[in-house]
Amino acid sequence: MIAKDINDTIAAIATPLGEGGIGIIRVSGINSIETVDRIFAAINKRALADRHSHRAVYGKIIDPKTKDIIDEAICIIMRGPHSYTKEDIVEIQCHGGMLPLRRILSLLIEIGEIRLAAPGEFTKRAFLNGRIDLAQAQAVMDIIKAKTDASLKVASGHLSGCFSSHIRQIRDPLLEMIAHYEAAIDFPEEEVDEIDNIQVMEKIGEIKDKINVMLASANTGRILSEGLVTAIVGKPNVGKSSLLNRLLHSERAIVTDVPGTTRDSIEEYADMEGIPLKIIDTAGIRHTEDKVEKIGVDRARSYIEKADLILALFDGTRPIEDDDRKIIKLIEEKNVVIVINKNDLEQSLDERWIRKQCSGSEIAHISAVSDNGIKELTEVIKKKVYAGNVVYNEGELVNNVRQSEALKKAERHLSDAIKSLDNDIPEDLVVIDLRSAWERLGDIIGDTASEDIIDEIFSRFCIGK
Ligand code: GDP
Ligand code: ZN
Repeated sequence: MIAKDINDTIAAIATPLGEGGIGIIRVSGINSIETVDRIFAAINKRALADRHSHRAVYGKIIDPKTKDIIDEAICIIMRGPHSYTKEDIVEIQCHGGMLPLRRILSLLIEIGEIRLAAPGEFTKRAFLNGRIDLAQAQAVMDIIKAKTDASLKVASGHLSGCFSSHIRQIRDPLLEMIAHYEAAIDFPEEEVDEIDNIQVMEKIGEIKDKINVMLASANTGRILSEGLVTAIVGKPNVGKSSLLNRLLHSERAIVTDVPGTTRDSIEEYADMEGIPLKIIDTAGIRHTEDKVEKIGVDRARSYIEKADLILALFDGTRPIEDDDRKIIKLIEEKNVVIVINKNDLEQSLDERWIRKQCSGSEIAHISAVSDNGIKELTEVIKKKVYAGNVVYNEGELVNNVRQSEALKKAERHLSDAIKSLDNDIPEDLVVIDLRSAWERLGDIIGDTASEDIIDEIFSRFCIGK
């Protein structure tokens, strides 16, 4: 996808598009300083090329053909290798409107040997030029997308290399084993130290255990970085929209007294003491001839399928109704928290019946129109997410599918290697498995990742990053 030349000089708008106080254009590569000099008139008339690195220079951006002043700007030069990409970089800070940013960018491309950067290309260069590894590059995106303090902590732990060094600690001993076996295979007649297969099996077992500990953390890591997909379900008027509002601390969802008015489903993130809940507010689940409403019902069903967690709402002020029974049926065997709402009013719900139907599910009592019980609900959800897990150092959590898939594959190869050793299968076959495990671990940090994997990862970045 980004099979473009790594030696090109690239440029992109690095700040979000729209109106802002300032906007930044980032230019990276061999022509960057020279090209910006051609459109930038520093207040003291000195060229950027003659300035020290990491200095901010104030001046004006001028179209060299028309001599039109486009904007005031501050240029910051960062000479490689002391820059994000390890190449020469110029960042042009101008006013944050669409027009100045676009005009300056197209001017650069027009007058210089510069092209528009592909998505993630700056970070890709940082990776290819050896400033960060692949896990760190992914962390850059995770930091940008972090929804809560906890997810930011996971991502910044990955960026600092904490996660990568964990992988290396698992991976390096494998290479030693491989080298040892290969020496024994290549030079059978020489006095290579006798390899004690039992000892090797133990060592491989230890590595496997470490991988399994990491894999056990993967679910928590994924939830912290991607959010816990949460569906709020319940019959009309039970308080779904009110709870959503309460959790989001905003007035985003429409709350109304008319049953069935929350027809469309919306999706938002709520921060539950660090756990990002990706909440889908579903339309009321009920039988109806109304077409619009029916779509909502279908969606609710499909959301229940997709959700990691279901908050099943019941109205504490009303006895069990048909709609409640339908919902109980839909959420069978799902990961559910029973939420009994409206506990500020007189209660007439048969809670024992619900308990009997949903044995094993936690119950929280709340009032969605106040903070009543929200703490209790938060605790129940936290307990579910961190269920049985030791408290992890967030920076070491596996936080994406690519990483956990690679770990799983590595683990399988190690199991095969142990089996082979156990069955006295020739050592060259054992080495094949050890090497494969070593490579899969390398995929995580990018040492052995194929170009396809690398391109795929960076194509998901935004432009300018
Ligand atoms: P939905 O149809 O399930 O989305 O229900 P809404 O959130 O729209 O709420 C229906 C009505 O119940 C609204 O008038 C809310 O103000 C009210 N309501 C929701 N939760 C509570 C609660 O905990 N206590 C009280 N007293 N009223 C509530
Ligand atoms: Zn609603």
